[in-house]
Parts: sequence; structure tokens; C-alpha cells
Amino acid sequence: MCFVLSVVPFVARAEAQGKKVYISVDMEGISGVVGDDQTSAGQPEYNRSRKLMAEDANAAIRGAFAGGATEVVVNDSHGSQRNLLPEDLDPRARLISHSFKRHGMVEGLDQTFDAVIFVGYHAKADSPRGLFAHTGSGVVKDVQVNGRSAGEGGLNTLMAQWYGVPVVLITGDDVAIEQQKEWTPTTRGVIVKRAINMRAVESRPLAEARREIESAAKEAVASSRKIPRDQQASYKVRMQLRNFTIAEVATAFSEIQLVAPDTVEFTRPTMPEAYRIVRVLYRFISPD
Ligand SMILES: [Zn+2]
Repeated sequence: MCFVLSVVPFVARAEAQGKKVYISVDMEGISGVVGDDQTSAGQPEYNRSRKLMAEDANAAIRGAFAGGATEVVVNDSHGSQRNLLPEDLDPRARLISHSFKRHGMVEGLDQTFDAVIFVGYHAKADSPRGLFAHTGSGVVKDVQVNGRSAGEGGLNTLMAQWYGVPVVLITGDDVAIEQQKEWTPTTRGVIVKRAINMRAVESRPLAEARREIESAAKEAVASSRKIPRDQQASYKVRMQLRNFTIAEVATAFSEIQLVAPDTVEFTRPTMPEAYRIVRVLYRFISPD
């Protein structure tokens, strides 16, 4: 009895010191993903790329645990968001799947996490270079939040900052990493491929890229420190779309104004509320 009493406080203290890590995994910036026949279900190369996606995710998960994580949540953040197979994933991680979720690429992220990792990220829409550069989906030309153009990395960073959780690591092509540094200059970056233009890339050897992801994740999680919650007074969003009809249809929501034939604006008091509307506009209004 005495033995048990002396052990329990020690275990509780050790757990309290462990970190909770959130990993958002996209597909275009995964090591070895190079073609648009790889990124959607039903395409001939898709089953290969979902395995490649799991390998990069697993490297980040291993690194996170080695760096002091005691809990890792992985959010499948690409397309259908049902790409990662639980049986392929490191068995210590939990997995959030399916795209029908309000916060998409950052579903489940909140202030209880200690660090965020972006795996497999890509350049934002309209970048002159960067493999499959886009923001959210093909219908978006640009998204600005409080006057600042944001790709997926930028939008997800604003969400992490809202909750006071630092983005400690990003992996993807060189343009994705460059664009992330504009938001969070101290975030570690692992470049797994160099974008030659929007379609051609020079890939690093897979094993080398995964080793670097693992060691960077370990260092990034070990040295992570929570940040003060960055909650701006309000979030004004300007979205330019490639399709006039989506912009027009979006005005069905009373808070959305049409400010140009292809551009809408709205303001919400919190970043999660703004994010939810951005997501509805690019994903749930069909241009057909
Ligand atoms: Zn993406």
C-alpha cells in the first residue's frame, strides 16, 4: 500500500510534463508525391501516395514522441480527408478522418495542445512556383485575412495562434516552407522536394527526407513553448474566387458582401468563425 502511494504521484507528475502534439497532414507536399494522378481516390497512383503520406506522418509522429510528446493527434487534411489508413499509422497516434468537418485541416485543434506540425504542405493559390499551388480548392484565387494574403499554412497558423499553440515544424516543397516562414519565421522547415514550377519537382531520396522529418520533429517538440493566444479584435476576410457564380451564391449568407463580381468580404469576431465560413465557400458550394 505504501509502495503504491509513493509511485502514483510520480507517474502523475511525469504525465503532466508530457506534451500533446497536433499533426495536420496534407498530400501535395509529401515526399515522393509528384503527379496529379496521385492525389485523389480512384486515380491509378493514389494508393501509392496514401502510403507515402503515412510514411511522412509516421516520421513526424516518431520524432514527436522522441521529443517528449505523450499524446499525438493526426488530422487527415487532404481532399476527402480519408487518405490515411489507421493500419498504416504509428499505433501510438490517434487519427481524425473525413472532410465533413467545420475546421477542416485543423479540426480538433484547441488550446490543450503544446505544438502543431504541418506535414505535406504546399504553396498557396496563384504562386508562380510550387507543386499544385492552391488554397483550399481550385476555386480560390486568393484569401486575405485582415489584409494579409494567406494560403492553407497561413490560415491554419492563424487558427493555431488563436489557441496559443506554436507551429513548430512544416514539411513540404521549398515554396511551402518559404511561405510559412513569412508567418512564423522560427518554425523549422524540412524541404522534401524542390519545386521547379507548378508541376515539375526534384525529389530528395525518400529515406533521407523521412530521417530529417523525424529528427526535426524531435527537436521541434522538445524545444516547443506555448505562446500567448493571439486573438485579434476581429477577422475581416476577403476572398477572390475563380468563379463568379460562387461569389454571387455566397451572398445567401447575410454577413457576406459581394465587393466585386469575383470577390466577397465578411467579418467575424473570432478566427474559428472566420475559418468555418472560408471553408464552406471553397468546399461546399459546387461551381457546377
Ligand atoms: Zn492542401
